[in-house]
Amino acid sequence: MSRFLTDPELPFCKGCGHHLIVRNTVKALEAIGVQPLDVVLVTDIGCHGIVDGNFATHTVHGLHGRSVALGAGMAMALPPQKKVVVYIGDGGATIGLQHILEAARLNVDLTVVVHNNMLYGMTGGQPSGLTPEGFRTVLTPQGYPFPHHDLPRLVHDAGAPFAARVVGLGDFSDVLRQALETEGFALVEVLEICVSYGVKMNPDLRLKELAQQAGYEPGVWTRPSRPAFRPVPRETSSLLDMEPVEVRYTSPLEGRYALVLGGSAGEGVQQAAELLAQTAIAAGLHATKKGSYPVTVGVGFSTAEVVLSRPPIFYHGVTQPDAVVITSADGLENQRERIRKMAGGILWLDASLPVPETGAEVRVRDFRGRAGARNAAVYALWTFLQETGVIPAEAFAETVRRSSLGQHIPENLLK
Ligand code: SF4
Repeated sequence: MSRFLTDPELPFCKGCGHHLIVRNTVKALEAIGVQPLDVVLVTDIGCHGIVDGNFATHTVHGLHGRSVALGAGMAMALPPQKKVVVYIGDGGATIGLQHILEAARLNVDLTVVVHNNMLYGMTGGQPSGLTPEGFRTVLTPQGYPFPHHDLPRLVHDAGAPFAARVVGLGDFSDVLRQALETEGFALVEVLEICVSYGVKMNPDLRLKELAQQAGYEPGVWTRPSRPAFRPVPRETSSLLDMEPVEVRYTSPLEGRYALVLGGSAGEGVQQAAELLAQTAIAAGLHATKKGSYPVTVGVGFSTAEVVLSRPPIFYHGVTQPDAVVITSADGLENQRERIRKMAGGILWLDASLPVPETGAEVRVRDFRGRAGARNAAVYALWTFLQETGVIPAEAFAETVRRSSLGQHIPENLLK
């Protein structure tokens, strides 16, 4: 078995062309001499995408049509010796056509393998933008009435240094090898017929004849090479070059602490949460901050989730908060369900609000009365730190005073 596969039993229907695409990809990867963990395989939604578990490479499963965008982001961030390969179907390529064209135009360093079986196989055989005219599908039993996109030509015109189309029969690994060896964007469209839906609706068609009749011209289209797009040179990327934050404070926290701050838009909730996260980092912790608010931005609730942690944070979601701090009726309404489900932890609640149903310990404090609406969030977090000591409250006060918020904070508020 190839070192690129963990399981040679592929999860496709018997006779599906996806089998051959995988075998040829593996052969091409072996030919260029990379190691499995030098490869990131990004798959899309579709039958091809369920192959993730068979590959011994890194694998990432994208949303429908978005795998090229996802792969492009990775290709721009990873060191040049890593290979990013995107698997996408004709349906995904139709949905994400603009992503493909932009990646080709920018010359992002990735290889896209389009599994063109001329219909959406996973969802029951509907036509896509790559379905050829006259091809029968469940939605077009009389034959598809429109001409198909010519994907290799489109990416070639967009500037791709390598574009190819192959009929997905036999050994086409050499074309995939050339694509993988291209510096910059390469796309290979592989023609197949879905044996479950395509053959059923078009029993008289054979792949080679179909390709010919549909004007699916096999070939390779190249352009002189040009440098692959790197927004920031990888060796000097801002991430790698980032100045380490000076650790000025200490924190007794050993594990992870998740806090939710809920208030109203325009009352500094997001900024207060960011200042808390910054203080935590300056106290030697890892921190994440995630904000949510309605699309209207300036009215309604504003909620921030902050995770503080001694170990690195690999998941920044908050399922069970240790603390919820609520400063306004909007915040309470937005977080009511989460608060109701709390079986422990602490709820800090503004004194103006009714105590909601909760299993958390409730601490009522006069945030708004003491600090006013504009400063209620920052004052609430300072109160939370005073009472928990997760990080020193004075450190937070210092961060606030140094920030643009500092000038609006009354002298004695955070003392
Ligand atoms: S439904 Fe079609 S595309 Fe999906 S695995 Fe079966 S033959 Fe392949």
